[in-house]
Amino acid sequence: MRKIFFLLGLFIAALPALAADSPIVVLNTQRLIYHSPDCKWAHRCTRNCIKTTLDKAVEYGARPCKVCGGSQN
Ligand SMILES: [Zn+2]
Repeated sequence: MRKIFFLLGLFIAALPALAADSPIVVLNTQRLIYHSPDCKWAHRCTRNCIKTTLDKAVEYGARPCKVCGGSQN
């Protein structure tokens, strides 16, 4: 049952933001770390990463990347 809520959370996090005042980040759904879109680690992350907003990444419990700080803003 927990797995279903986990997947639902991912689905919600992957929804494009209607109010786009939150910066776009690349969220690693396996490690729960978010990156700035131009972070080299964001570019390397292809399998477990989704593009979402900073707000949703934080809401989802993700932490910022230590290399890029999570967002350029
Ligand atoms: Zn990063």
